[in-house]
Amino acid sequence: HADSAMYKAKELGRNNFVYFAAEMNAHATQRLDMLNSLRHAVANNEFVLQFQPKIHLATGKVVGAEALIRWRHPLRGMVPPGSFIPLAEESGLIIEIGEWVLRTACAQNMAWQRAGFPAIPISVNLSPRQLVRGDIVALVAEVLHESGLAPHCLELEITETVVMRDVDKSLVILKKLKELGVKISIDDFGTGYSSLNYLKRFPVDTLKIDRSFVSDIADDQDDAAIVKAVISLAHILNLRVVAEGVEAEEQRRFLLENGCDEVQGYYFGRPVPSESFAGKWLQAKEEA
Ligand code: C2E
Ligand code: MG
Ligand code: MG
Ligand code: MG
Repeated sequence: HADSAMYKAKELGRNNFVYFAAEMNAHATQRLDMLNSLRHAVANNEFVLQFQPKIHLATGKVVGAEALIRWRHPLRGMVPPGSFIPLAEESGLIIEIGEWVLRTACAQNMAWQRAGFPAIPISVNLSPRQLVRGDIVALVAEVLHESGLAPHCLELEITETVVMRDVDKSLVILKKLKELGVKISIDDFGTGYSSLNYLKRFPVDTLKIDRSFVSDIADDQDDAAIVKAVISLAHILNLRVVAEGVEAEEQRRFLLENGCDEVQGYYFGRPVPSESFAGKWLQAKEEA
């Protein structure tokens, strides 16, 4: 029976192996399918941008817009970025996609200004791979030049993890971006590992408090304390602070009472297509 136990283990091992191999195959196939349709999407321009307003909390004025990508898939409909950005990042397709986002967002901002709407900064998310690529500075300079957009009307959002991964390199790139005159914002702040020492040295303008801290501020004392602390920290460092994911009146009130500068969230406005954004959120200069 020792033999038979060994036999069983072997058998089990083999079956498991077969099982894992099949599973891995299915996974790999799925990934390859997805990658192919993503490549196709890049070639066929299946992406669109939506825009979500940033609101100055004390006055209720729209002070910016974040550009958020969606994939308009011919069969699956609107695919949110969370379902394809990671693969785009892994495969390197993000470079081309990110370039498209940057150009399109800047062109859209200029189009609003030419149509008589006031100039507000547009925020564009930069993915890790885009930031550390050698030519991001040249790309941003080129896009500003060709769109005619004033540099202060562009804000780049980067996550703290990216910056912390290679501090020295990031610092050099961020300084060059700042020299172009664009604004820089740390996205999803609090979810990574920013060192306060670096935060002080980095040429950033804004901290965006991650939604995960904001969602429970009304009920969770720890989250409330963290959000208060981040607001103070930002102000001590002379940074603006934006709260993400504001969905309810109690959250709005808490943030206002605690001196948060700006907010973004469904409570104020969801991301909308470019056609609706200006009509909904921007007042033409003539009317104002
Ligand atoms: P993010 O930059 O932190 O963007 C905020 C996300 O929170 C957006 O999701 C937005 O729609 C969502 N949001 C805003 N207000 C609320 C709210 O009140 N409640 C809830 N539940 N959600 C809210 P979205 O558009 O799905 O984007 C998710 C993430 O995908 C972004 O997070 C960003 O990291 C990434 N992403 C989006 N567009 C781009 C892009 O053009 N390039 C790159 N590299 N990443 C992008
Ligand atoms: Mg963002
Ligand atoms: Mg964020
Ligand atoms: Mg986020």
